[in-house]
This record gives sequence, C-alpha cells and structure tokens, in this order.
Amino acid sequence: SFIQMFVRRLRGEDQEEELVIDYVTKDVNNMTVKMPYQCFINGKFEDAEDGKTYNTVNPTDGSVICKVSYASVADVDRAVSAAKEAFDNGPWGKMNPRDRGRLLYRLADLMEEHQEELATIETIDSGAVYTLALKTHVGMSIQTFRYFAGWCDKIQVCVCSLRPSFYNFLSLTVCAIVIPWNYPLMMLAWKSAACLAAGNTLVLKPAQVTPLTALKFAELTVKAGIPKGVINIVPGSGGLVGQRMSDHPDIRKLGFTGSTPIGKQIMKSCAVSNLKKVSLELGGKSPLIIFSDCDMDKAVRMGMSSVYFNKGENCIAAGRLFVEESIHDEYIRRVVEEIKKMKIGDPLDRSTDHGPQNHKAHLDKLVEYCEIGVKEGAMLVYGGRQVDRPGFFMEPTVFTDVEDHMFIAKEESFGPVMVVSKFKDGDVDGVLSRANNTEFGLASGVFTRDINKAMYVSERLEAGTVFVNTYNKTDVAAPFGGFKQSGFGKDLGEEALHEYLRTKAVTVEY
Ligand code: NAP
Ligand code: MG
Repeated sequence: SFIQMFVRRLRGEDQEEELVIDYVTKDVNNMTVKMPYQCFINGKFEDAEDGKTYNTVNPTDGSVICKVSYASVADVDRAVSAAKEAFDNGPWGKMNPRDRGRLLYRLADLMEEHQEELATIETIDSGAVYTLALKTHVGMSIQTFRYFAGWCDKIQVCVCSLRPSFYNFLSLTVCAIVIPWNYPLMMLAWKSAACLAAGNTLVLKPAQVTPLTALKFAELTVKAGIPKGVINIVPGSGGLVGQRMSDHPDIRKLGFTGSTPIGKQIMKSCAVSNLKKVSLELGGKSPLIIFSDCDMDKAVRMGMSSVYFNKGENCIAAGRLFVEESIHDEYIRRVVEEIKKMKIGDPLDRSTDHGPQNHKAHLDKLVEYCEIGVKEGAMLVYGGRQVDRPGFFMEPTVFTDVEDHMFIAKEESFGPVMVVSKFKDGDVDGVLSRANNTEFGLASGVFTRDINKAMYVSERLEAGTVFVNTYNKTDVAAPFGGFKQSGFGKDLGEEALHEYLRTKAVTVEY
C-alpha cells in the first residue's frame, strides 16, 4: 500500500531489518496480549544497561504480571543521544509537516486496531475498569493523536503588520515527558501527541507502577513508521530516571504530570541545569458546589462520578462537595442508596463499576486518609475501609460534616472518597470564598438551574476548568490545566502545541 511504501521510504536503508521484540504473552480477557517489557531506545527494545529489572503488579489480585527493565542514568543518556541524533540528522527533523501528520494519523489507526489489547493491558497493570479503559484511557488517547496529527500542517508563520518582519514557530528539539500512573496511556498521549506534532523528539518515563501500555505504544510507533530515536521510553524510578531527565543538558523542555511537591522539585532542577522550559499539571482539590435548585437526579449521578470515576484516581476529581443545607440530607441519602448498587469486583468483568486502586501503597494511604477524617471528627457515613477480598480494593466512601480546617477538607485523597460540607441556604458568596480557599485550582463544578447563578459562580471559581451541570467532560480540543499550585501550561487544544514550540522573529530590511 502507499502507506507501507511511504513508511519504508521514511525509515531509510538502516531500518530495513525487522524489529525483534522479546514479548511477555498472557492469555487474559479472551485474548492473547503481547507485552514488550524492555527499554525502548533508538527504535529497539533492549535491557537496561546494567540488566536491572523490577516487577509490575496486577492490583486486582496482587500478582506479578512480568518483570520490566529498570532503566539507569546511562540508559537515559543513551535515549537522549538517540533523540538528539534523530532530530538533528534523521528524517523526522527534515520531514514535511504534512508527512509528519500522516505518520501520527497512521499511529492513531494502529492504536485503534489494537485498542482491545491496549485496554486489557491497561486494566491488568492499573486496575482500570475495562469498559472505561476502552472508552477513556485508550479511546481518548486515539482521539488525542488524531487531533494533533491535524495540527502538523497548520502551524503557520505569522507576518506582522509592521512590514517586513515575520515570526516563525520552531521545534524545541529534545523534550522529556514524565507522567503518573492514574491514566498511564492517556497521560502519555496528551503530552506526546502535542510534542510530536510540533516536530520534536522525546524521551518519556512512565510511572514505575504502570509501564506496560507505554511500551506497547512504543511497538506501535515502529509499526507506524515513526523513525528510530524520535520516541524513546525509559521505565524506571522518578528519583533516578526522572531526575536525570530534569538535569540533562540536551533536553530543552520537560512536560510533567504528577504531584505538586515533585513538580516543584522538577521545576527547580530544570532551572538550575539549563533553564528548561517546563509545563506542570499537578495536584488538585476541586470544589463542586450543589445548589438546592439543581436537577437532583443529575446532581446525584454526576456528583458521584465526579468522585468515583476511575476509582477516584482522577486529577480533576471533585475533592470537596459543598451542598446547600436544605437539600443536604436528601442528597446524602440518595448518594448512599446509589453506592450500595455499585458493583465492586474484577475490572475485566463488563458489569463491574468499581475496580481496585492502582497499587498497594496508594490503597494504604487512602485507608489512613479516612482514619484521619474519623479522628478529626468528620462523620463517616459510608465505607472508609479496604474491601475484604484479595487485591487492593477500597470501599467507595462518604464523609459529611467536614469542616474547613480539617485535613480531609484540604488534602487531595486521589481515591474514592466523597468529602461533603454544608453551606447556608442562599449564601452564594460565602460558599464561593470557601471553595476558592485552597492552594489548588485544577477543576471545579456547579449544579444549579439558575443560569445567572451558574455564570456568576463559574466566573469566580479560581480553577482552569469549570463544569456547569456536568462533570468530567474533557475534550481533546479544549485546553486543560490548572491555576495556582495545580501548575501551569496547558495540555490539549491549540495551546498545548505552543508548550512544545518556540517562537522566532525574523526582521528583513530591503
Ligand atoms: P508523583 O509522585 O509526583 O509522580 C509522578 C511522576 O514523577 C512519576 O513518574 C514519578 O516516578 C516521577 N518522579 C518522582 N520523583 C521525581 C523526580 N525527582 N524527578 C522527576 N520525576 C520524578 O505523582 P503520582 O503519585 O504518581 O501521581 C499522583 C499525582 O498526580 C496526584 O497529586 C494527582 O493530582 C496528580 N495528577 C495530576 C494531573 C493533572 O493533569 N493535573 C493528572 C493526573 C495526576 P515514580 O514512578 O518512580 O514514582
Ligand atoms: Mg501495575
């Protein structure tokens, strides 16, 4: 076919050899999944230089899925050299942007062809419920690549009205990407797609606990014909691999999603080493305000998904619900009624609503979070404990009577814990000031049928995203990112492209 011819042409002579992959295979979810487990550097899967490995675990039963290469600093350095060589001398750097777009479309198509396999791997490695993994984790990743593929040939030179100068948008060369474990493939997609559309090459570190979909993705990039060295994946520890990426003199940009403390550490290292450009998507404690004039059915349904979606391992999860006094008790009664209907169990089972937390340490932290809530005097209405079964399952939990000074009112749980506070009937400004009284500013929400109130509140909520009478509705074309200590620099939308570009002004006299 044309694509295959085109791909062969792009790869050049030195890529004629067939890619050899040492897979781990597993029969699971009525299919055989084939999982690469080694570092992906310069178009090849290979062991870490010192041969080290670690185990990645299935949170549904705590079993080991397979061993994965544990990259060292030397592996990062090799990956960066490969990315630099690919940018400076490989076909990628010289390619017509429209051809670059074709490769990214092809990659998206291959991800779609492999979507069941990708979603299955995501489920066993991260505990994501399979139906959600297919629709969101993998589905939105595919959409993200298609969206940014379309941008490749639309990055335009701007001519100033002050003749005769113009400015041009250039790639940044080698970029680093460091991501968390809650949406392993989707976080990769949000950052890599924009980075590649902008013409850069990259080195990516997945979270240690969820490396497998990133490595499967690497395989698909070879099949798509992305030239060697353009994408490099180095699984390993943040302190070692991630830190080396922040420090590396040949990296010019680092895109990070993760916690606020690590984001600060990364920004510091990026500054001290070579003043890398950074974008940071950090923690959140997003407020959701529910007024008594809301559509109650919708507020119950969406209030629950604002907290329990992806077992609460959701950066924009509503960390705190403010419910107007006159509907408060009814609201809680209905939420608890609905929680009792939730099916907790094997995330591969199509009827499961709630799967295991991502890994053991996270589950332990959630149990402790709930113990602190109880100790401080919040009312534990439902859950609060580990589910009595194998694996890392946490009960969907509800706290009420949460006061502003309490730990659980201020700190993110990143788990299925609903934290509810009451506010006085009609006190719009009072609840707004409580909702904004946080150092985070990632997302927020409001439920009311009164359009004036909805607009008044959404204008004043200090967050990068506001949901009105809905929640969790993100779109690949809409910029996503926080205010305050939730970070800066957007993912998705046109703005994300500029996180991975630099602007050059050229003035010509004649
Ligand atoms: P984390 O501890 O900050 O880790 C995130 C990534 O950074 C991991 O890959 C980690 O490696 C790496 N890392 C750790 N230390 C590093 C260092 N010194 N230098 C460079 N990289 C380093 O966060 P997490 O616990 O994985 O994720 C949960 C957090 O992510 C939550 O706070 C959540 O709000 C946030 N989050 C935000 C968004 C958003 O869009 N704003 C989205 C999702 C999640 P290891 O694998 O070794 O830990
Ligand atoms: Mg795992």
